[in-house]
Amino acid sequence: MNYENRPLCLSKPTIRRELPPGMPDARMRLIRVLSKVWVNETELHYFFVDGPEAQRQAVRDAFAEWKALPLGLKFTETTDRAASEIRIAFDPNDGSWSYVGRDLLGIPATETTMNFGWDLTDDYGHSTALHEIGHTLGLPHEHQNPFSGIEWDEDAVYRFFTGSPNFWTRSQTEHNVLRKISTQEVDGSAWDPDSVMEYWFPAGLIREPAQYAGGLNPPGGLSAPDKEWAKKFYPELTAELRELKVFESQLLELAAGQQADFVLKPEASQNYTISTFGQSDMVMVLFEDDGGSLRYLGGDDDSGTGLNAQLNLRLLAGRRYVVRLRLYWAGGIGKSSVMYW
Ligand SMILES: [Zn+2]
Repeated sequence: MNYENRPLCLSKPTIRRELPPGMPDARMRLIRVLSKVWVNETELHYFFVDGPEAQRQAVRDAFAEWKALPLGLKFTETTDRAASEIRIAFDPNDGSWSYVGRDLLGIPATETTMNFGWDLTDDYGHSTALHEIGHTLGLPHEHQNPFSGIEWDEDAVYRFFTGSPNFWTRSQTEHNVLRKISTQEVDGSAWDPDSVMEYWFPAGLIREPAQYAGGLNPPGGLSAPDKEWAKKFYPELTAELRELKVFESQLLELAAGQQADFVLKPEASQNYTISTFGQSDMVMVLFEDDGGSLRYLGGDDDSGTGLNAQLNLRLLAGRRYVVRLRLYWAGGIGKSSVMYW
């Protein structure tokens, strides 16, 4: 596909978490990569701030295409702005962009988290919608993959992006194209020039690899590695969830990025503590089953600290709750556990 003269996504800066000095690189990398990823089976609610019906439908279709991989995440349209994690606008003067993964949770409900600056109803627009949703799922730009081996003709890159149709500043060009993402912030996968997260580039911008000196034109749509990444972090869960019973600890032997899911059916209405045990770094999220839809109740993320993920909440007898635990780093002995009381 030839995207010549079509503008490109201008991503928002990602929120970089401060981690204590002296932390080993491997642990730091796992935290930086996995802290962008949502807990699997999260229901993400999207709200349209404005926009004509045809554009909204193109975004719904792109969510449906990601969902059909299949993914464990759920995407639900809502008309309640306050209840949305994803807020989508169609300002033609603001380009196309999205915040990345769980960074969205830090964006106030008064602000949008994703914008589309051009028509989404043609092939290029469809790839744009898939691309921005890719950011929302936690994917960075593929041409900034530190393992790409791309060597730029920097003057040509600045000339191209500061001119039509992007009109970026030099610092925006540096941030979105020339800057390589730190090896501490990527999962180490090989460069995928066919990714939906890869820009197209005209001839003369890439010096190496030489095969792209004449330009890089990704085919559009989701590549095989894009699908593999999404299914690895968001696998569709079909098995019945195990029950976590009061005062019975469950051993967790998870690899980095893996998740454990349990159902809780408290027999008394009272305050409960749910806690992990062990050295590991973990994010824990609790949902209440609200007629088949899981409503977020609370979450805790102990990554990078010496603490354990812990929630203290009032749970009601007769209700059903689901707790999900995603492991970042397994700690010295590689095992941890979870219990509630
Ligand atoms: Zn982008």
